Amino acid sequence: MIKQSPSSTIVLFILLIVIVIGLSLLSDRIWGGKAEKLPKPDTLIIEKGMTITQFGQANAFPNQVLKTIFDLQTKSDLDNKLEKYGTSDQISMLVLKKLALASEHSSKNWIKILVKFVLWAFFLGIVYLIFNRRKITPQLRKWLLFAAVLIFGVGLGSDPSPMGTVKDAIHLYGTTGAIFPPRMIALTVFLVFVFLVNKYICAWGCQVGALQDLIFHINRTDKHKAVIGRQIKLPFVLTNTLRIAFLGLFTLVAFLWGFDIIEPIDPFKVFKPEHIVFTGGIFITLLLVAGLFIYRPWCHLFCPFGLVGWLIEKISRVRVSVDYETCIACQKCAAACPSTVMGAILRRDKKTIPDCFSCYTCRDVCPTGSIRFSRDKRTLPPAGHFEKR
Ligand code: SF4
Ligand code: SF4
Repeated sequence: MIKQSPSSTIVLFILLIVIVIGLSLLSDRIWGGKAEKLPKPDTLIIEKGMTITQFGQANAFPNQVLKTIFDLQTKSDLDNKLEKYGTSDQISMLVLKKLALASEHSSKNWIKILVKFVLWAFFLGIVYLIFNRRKITPQLRKWLLFAAVLIFGVGLGSDPSPMGTVKDAIHLYGTTGAIFPPRMIALTVFLVFVFLVNKYICAWGCQVGALQDLIFHINRTDKHKAVIGRQIKLPFVLTNTLRIAFLGLFTLVAFLWGFDIIEPIDPFKVFKPEHIVFTGGIFITLLLVAGLFIYRPWCHLFCPFGLVGWLIEKISRVRVSVDYETCIACQKCAAACPSTVMGAILRRDKKTIPDCFSCYTCRDVCPTGSIRFSRDKRTLPPAGHFEKR
């Protein structure tokens, strides 16, 4: 067992990043990268009286692509006049939409995606069962997080991810008006996870979420104190405002200019390192270093799924609740919680409850076993409960 010291923390942090980047490069090669997206034409040539064949020749679209775009049934449909499919603008939109959807299809490795979802269900199920039966030791926590990083990030890559489903759905719709059904199914599955068992998918399944969590815990002693510097809890009102503003900006830019502002700084590219650009490299480095001192900075400050998941968390069937009959108001749970959630749950002063990442720290430090993850409704602490001490 390595004794936690500032130097061992730095070594572990660097080692972790080297392992993640090194093995991800290898894994990408093994899976054989598929093209991210098919190239799309800058301008379309559409002339009056054109047939589909002539349109295809003018824009260098093979017959197979024309068949997909215009839903052609027989070869003779290639002689149809373009006008049959609408005005020039409508045809441009149709082409853009169909090409975008074909591009989405061709860029996916469906076997990898299927394997990933099966493993997610299996892994989250196992974690749920373990945690509901026993306390989590700091070592077990780190090994489980490391396993999640290795399986869902290094081994199975950056795509799909909970964050990517929200981001790419907005961007695709904003730029082409298209909705890619498999992505909507994936998003629904992620949200169903949150509905059923709270933010387990973020806590133990998301590749970047688990990586940040692991980094945070590398810089944490078993007594929940920072090894290097201080671990700070940013006020939720600040983090959530920034997160909402970031999603608003992302959506606006996608709809108005068709640009994806997350793409150059996407931290999920840590599992696809050959795609990291210079600015992205700086951003991701800063983010990961910040993760030593702030719990899940990407999730709290930027992630679109973090925001959507937080909303669904409000109706989740599983939640943290406190039994105030046995609670002795020591507030050890709030002190150990890596975020501001437990403090907000205890105060219940009508302020919004922040995201809970189902880390179980609060439950495990409670000396009276008063904290539960269950379907129990949260109750308010009796008046003056925390003033008694
Ligand atoms: S909030 Fe964090 S854990 Fe959840 S999808 Fe976003 S990056 Fe992943
Ligand atoms: S310590 Fe408890 S309240 Fe805080 S994030 Fe973890 S599970 Fe949620």
